[in-house]
Amino acid sequence: MSEQPANAEPPRTDRVSVLLPLPLAGAYDYRVANGMQVGVGDFVRVPLGRRRLAGVVWGPNHAEVAEAKLKPIAETLPVPPLHDELRRFVEWVANYTLTPPGAVLRMTMSVPDALEPPRALTGYTITDIGRLACATADSRLTPQRRRVLAIAADGGAATAGDLGHRAACGVGVIKAMAAAGLLAAVDVPAALPPPVPDWRPAGPPLSSAQEIAATDLIEKVRRGGYGVTLLDGVTGSGKTEVYFAAIAAALEQGRQVLVLLPEIALSAQLLKRFADRFGAPPALWHSDLGHAQRRATWRHVAEGQARVVIGARSALFLPFSDLGLIVVDEEHEASFKQEEGVIYHARDMAVVRASLARLPIVLVSATPSLESTINAQSGRYARVHLPARHGTARLPEIRVVDMRKQKPERQRFLSPPLVQALGDTLGAGEQAMLFLNRRGYAPLTLCRECGHRMQCPNCTAWLIEHRRAGGLQCHHCGYATPMPPNCPGCAAAGSFAACGPGVERLAEETAQRFPQARIALMASDTLTGPHAMAELLERVERREVDVLIGTQVMAKGHHFPMLTLVGVVDADLGLSGGDLRAAERTFQLLHQVAGRAGRAERPGVVLLQTYMPEHPVMRALATDDRDGFLAVEAETRREGNWPPFGRLAAVIISAPDADDADRAARAFAHHAPRVEGIEILGPAPAPLTMLRGRHRRRFLVKAKRDAPLQSMLRTWLDVVKLPASIRVQADIDPYSFI
Ligand code: ADP
Ligand code: ZN
Repeated sequence: MSEQPANAEPPRTDRVSVLLPLPLAGAYDYRVANGMQVGVGDFVRVPLGRRRLAGVVWGPNHAEVAEAKLKPIAETLPVPPLHDELRRFVEWVANYTLTPPGAVLRMTMSVPDALEPPRALTGYTITDIGRLACATADSRLTPQRRRVLAIAADGGAATAGDLGHRAACGVGVIKAMAAAGLLAAVDVPAALPPPVPDWRPAGPPLSSAQEIAATDLIEKVRRGGYGVTLLDGVTGSGKTEVYFAAIAAALEQGRQVLVLLPEIALSAQLLKRFADRFGAPPALWHSDLGHAQRRATWRHVAEGQARVVIGARSALFLPFSDLGLIVVDEEHEASFKQEEGVIYHARDMAVVRASLARLPIVLVSATPSLESTINAQSGRYARVHLPARHGTARLPEIRVVDMRKQKPERQRFLSPPLVQALGDTLGAGEQAMLFLNRRGYAPLTLCRECGHRMQCPNCTAWLIEHRRAGGLQCHHCGYATPMPPNCPGCAAAGSFAACGPGVERLAEETAQRFPQARIALMASDTLTGPHAMAELLERVERREVDVLIGTQVMAKGHHFPMLTLVGVVDADLGLSGGDLRAAERTFQLLHQVAGRAGRAERPGVVLLQTYMPEHPVMRALATDDRDGFLAVEAETRREGNWPPFGRLAAVIISAPDADDADRAARAFAHHAPRVEGIEILGPAPAPLTMLRGRHRRRFLVKAKRDAPLQSMLRTWLDVVKLPASIRVQADIDPYSFI
């Protein structure tokens, strides 16, 4: 033991450790020049090699580096310091995900120039000439310029970057338009603080169940302190209304709120509701923001001026100055799992952040994940429940169509009952939705002569035909190629057959059967640009669309009063494959899709086309027995010690060369540590044996809940020395099993 002097000296402040937003092993030591004031959490700029980088003062004294070798901190940056809570969160996430802390810090410091003092910006506004050209749809305008003018016409000044981003064109176009007199350059103040949402206007009168739920959450927000509450209620039961009440309570206390959504681009209706209720839009945080906006928002969050942030998973790492509440909407969504870079689950890490910062957190879902359900049952999470749809809206009736008996015609995919129901719905002047979670025209193209299947050269996957865009695409790596004139296998001409349906093919069949119907496609590749989704939703609301055909982007919380029929074209699609959560996810997705029907006064009907009508998922959907389904699912997982009862990690080893991948996998197998309570399965070829040109081998590591999974993995991954061509990726709590 080292000797402690009776009066412990305050930590030396002439040297500090600084964590840089880089994947380095840890923080580096720097010297504090005479007279410079730095504290833990301060943003500073330091030399590293020949560069100067921004980082965060992580602590006093770090390693024993000779005084003479230390370089001095260059400057402190004018930003509020990073809170203790966030520093501990960064370390926690790094530890849990087996990532260097600097790589996690980088997610917090995602806008480096937000650390600079704000400067005045050059903005562009539309001129009278521009207005005239826009109003008269001047034929000399390029489509890009026309888009820019349309955006500039109904907004104030915006930076070239922002305008260009919104109009999907380069900054050069904006500058050229200014030179041509269509736009004028003006000084704009560096990012005005955003308007403050007003908590006072009351929401709608709540039903008694809603009132009980809202009171519970408001109470928790006022009391403060850590606690997780699962807000569980059927679609349309008013969950959003209830968590708005909790947001109002946090605002009343002058604190900040973070709302995490799985896909912010799909949330136009929610944002509008928020603005209607609170009189100001929330701050947004997602990957589609322009740079100037990210920069402004980051600073506003750090300075406490952005009061409510609605964002995608990366918003979890923002430097809130006084966070009072976190809401995770659609908490069951797998897209909260970040699969690249730092691999983490935003819902789970949100719970961690709430616990470190001692905040209430609300997890919201109509189909809670098994993880959250079990936590609620065991009492770790509180639960509030909204049992019924609001008002007169009722849950739709779900009918199972047994495809073994109700066969579609050859090369068709809609069964007789679904065709009949579509006809009835259109005849009644109502809207219908066909759901198929597959983009493109056909998932498989094969040669009728020799059976050759069109496959991706980089992945173990078939190429998907896209007729609208033309050609074949790989949905894993983005490889695209025109349809070859001859079969690569036997050189036969015109021998290709499309097998199976994608949404484009369904649209074709629907148009053939119902030539009068106005059909719209809704898939990620048919909606281009940030406004396409909002425009399409508005067209549906205005009833300019009769049949909406789409993938899961269509399943999300949109509210269409006239939509009374939902046809699920292939209810079995998600059930195959090695995904541990296949049944759970299929249930969640189909339940959510079904929830689109009959949201207003008119009752809705859902038809599920399946070859497995006896499958527990179909039975649970048809009998509206979510809890029964979850109980059976929980039992199966408990028996196998699968999550959430046991823990799981995947280790994927990949290399451009198959033999190298095998050799590395054998080396790992050879060095696998033996640890009580931990079982290593594999190596085996990953289900997608080749992905983006890399051959993949996979280990699954299965651990008892309290086994030291992370430390075992750390030891294991450290001990094997590998050539540079080999990549090793550890995925804690994997959600993707490809
Ligand atoms: P959920 O989030 O559970 O799907 P929402 O909060 O979106 O439910 O509510 C569904 C619909 O019902 C929305 O149009 C919402 O405005 C309306 N609604 C919910 N609760 C009330 C209420 N107490 N008064 C009036 N309208 C309500
Ligand atoms: Zn591919």
